[in-house]
Amino acid sequence: MTTVLVTGGAGYVGSHNVLALINAGYDVVIFDNLSLGHSEIVEILKNQSAAGRVIDFLKGDLQNFQDINSAFEKFDISAVLHFAAFSQVAESVKNPQKYYFNNVYGTLNLLKAMIENNVMKIVFSSTAATYGEPEYIPIDEKHPQNPINPYGRTKLMIENIMDDYDSAYGLKSVRLRYFNVAGADTKSRIGEWHVPETHLIPNILKSTFSGGQRFKMFGTDYDTKDGTCIRDYINVEDLAKAHLLALKHLLNGGGTNFYNLGTNDGNSVKEVFRTCEDVTGKHIDVDVLERREGDPASLVADNKKSLSDLGWKPEKTLTDSVASAYAWEKIYQETLLNGELNKCH
Ligand code: UDP
Repeated sequence: MTTVLVTGGAGYVGSHNVLALINAGYDVVIFDNLSLGHSEIVEILKNQSAAGRVIDFLKGDLQNFQDINSAFEKFDISAVLHFAAFSQVAESVKNPQKYYFNNVYGTLNLLKAMIENNVMKIVFSSTAATYGEPEYIPIDEKHPQNPINPYGRTKLMIENIMDDYDSAYGLKSVRLRYFNVAGADTKSRIGEWHVPETHLIPNILKSTFSGGQRFKMFGTDYDTKDGTCIRDYINVEDLAKAHLLALKHLLNGGGTNFYNLGTNDGNSVKEVFRTCEDVTGKHIDVDVLERREGDPASLVADNKKSLSDLGWKPEKTLTDSVASAYAWEKIYQETLLNGELNKCH
């Protein structure tokens, strides 16, 4: 029986990984302070426990060493998947302190608890934002890491800390640098639930529901094929599969490494928008606005290293991601949104 601690397991990417872990036969301990994650998601996950598999939940904050240390004292943990973090670029520019304390200091506490409890394997949720403004496309892992905002810097600092901790203490890490994560669980049990929502696909889809804000397209004058930004949209279930492979690599005694998670292909904002119209079968209204500050024109992953080393292969298309996101959004609008509104009033 192998038990994996998942920090941020009540959030978007973390919760999809919890499902993938229990399906693969692991026991899971979710550690989350519920500042961005949702107790409703924890309940849904607990109800999904596969036969014989256990999902435990510990509410705690990584900024409190005792909280995270108690997770290792209470459970026999073999490895950690670390998702807990703040990840909004604009907010990180306005309030860097919030990001350095939560992301960097929180991770320092997590790593200290791991080392003290002799748990030396961690898969870390890193980001393409560690590369900064691309010097070439597609971006491979050798691309210089010069993040241009505090969010990206927190993730790069953590990657560097992990290297130092490997040299000094033998802590083994796999850092997965995500491009644009998209989609939801194919069975629509869980999906993307950010308040406020800033991401492209959920914002387009939300605009098709009554009470939804009109979709705002940020910038059509980029130097790209149709003037809108190009991003590499990686499906959240494909992403979770890569985490399982990285975890297996570490559990089998593999060493520290880092990989891009993307599809090697990009789609423009206009292409994503058209895919949303096709999937929903609706004409979607759009307001074209100025560029959003800090958006590079194009971000596409070179994913060869993860394909060859991890044996990973993304399988889902952009249409798959939009379709699963739409199916989840319908459920969210019909059930969960009411609870969210009640909490606000
Ligand atoms: N975008 C947009 N309208 C929105 C949200 C995003 O036009 O409501 C654009 C954004 O400017 C960027 C792309 O969609 O070019 C992807 O943005 P997102 O926030 O989803 O991911 P990011 O690439 O910033 O991590």
